[in-house]
Amino acid sequence: MNPLEHELNYPLGDALPALGNTLEIAPGVRWVRMGLPFALDHINLWLLRDEVDGQAGWTIVDCGITSDATRDAWEQVFANELAGLPVLRVIVTHMHPDHIGLAHWLTERWNCRMWISATDYNAARLASSATTGFGGASAAAFMASHGLTDPASIEKIKARTNYYASMVPKVPASFRRLLNADVIRIGGHDWTCHVGYGHAPEHMSLHCASLGLLISGDMVLPRISTNVMVIDLEPEANPLPLYLDSLTRLRVVPEDTLVLPSHGKPFRGLHQRIAQLHAHHDERYAEVMDACAEAPQSGADILRVMFRRPLDLHQTTFAIGESIAHLNALWLAGRLRRETGADGVIRFSVA
Ligand SMILES: [Zn+2]
Repeated sequence: MNPLEHELNYPLGDALPALGNTLEIAPGVRWVRMGLPFALDHINLWLLRDEVDGQAGWTIVDCGITSDATRDAWEQVFANELAGLPVLRVIVTHMHPDHIGLAHWLTERWNCRMWISATDYNAARLASSATTGFGGASAAAFMASHGLTDPASIEKIKARTNYYASMVPKVPASFRRLLNADVIRIGGHDWTCHVGYGHAPEHMSLHCASLGLLISGDMVLPRISTNVMVIDLEPEANPLPLYLDSLTRLRVVPEDTLVLPSHGKPFRGLHQRIAQLHAHHDERYAEVMDACAEAPQSGADILRVMFRRPLDLHQTTFAIGESIAHLNALWLAGRLRRETGADGVIRFSVA
């Protein structure tokens, strides 16, 4: 446990639901944990006891990636944990593969609707049928313009054209739209949607005041900082202030709320964690400014300042995206200026 985690409280201790089983968090709220084939090796999903149009059943929140292992784990959950009741709807917090991957299968399996923000629905449809953002020629050119110039890496990024679709081969053909401040009645409780920007196009966290629970999705995680990156689709994007402003707005959720994050363990200390994340990014901003004061820096140069550990190519592309998020924020705030060199690489220096 890192020192910052000691400032948070984990009321369930080290308890984890076994694969294919669930752990009860509150009456009618169950925690499901599935594997992921990344360094981040798991995702938390949630089962909420529900009743829709007079029919008793369950709402699922988030799905896991499309894989045989995840499908098998869901089948075990269905056999063991639903008390013989059906799944009535699938709510997806955002369009990333570990959250929406199996939505097509779950909604077909149970003949039910997926609920998601419209922006994330459309982004998922696009990403599932295109290469934008995660690989292909456009991503390779974008990475090269930010200083990732070694030919072997560039070739590998160009070749990685199937990254999203491999985990999200299909997106349900229809959806029900979630909007900020929507209140969804689930199992006799009101859950309010809180939009979050900067991590995904239009991420929805769900807060239930009567149960004292926040399904935070990826917006607030206890151990790691949420990925906030710039991709080739929107090269001048400024997602970091959007993310930090979204966190600030989440402070309307009471501090004693039990936070159910997509990765890591349920915790209390929401306001404390939000303060930690603001401080984390303030420190990164300061490091980037210091480096740019010494010499002009590309996104790839800043990587060495912000991440002081060896990264594989997959981690490198995400980390450069995060470096650019910090550089763009400082550039668009007028604190840095940028210049494209004769080598085609964009470098930032103090304005
Ligand atoms: Zn995500």
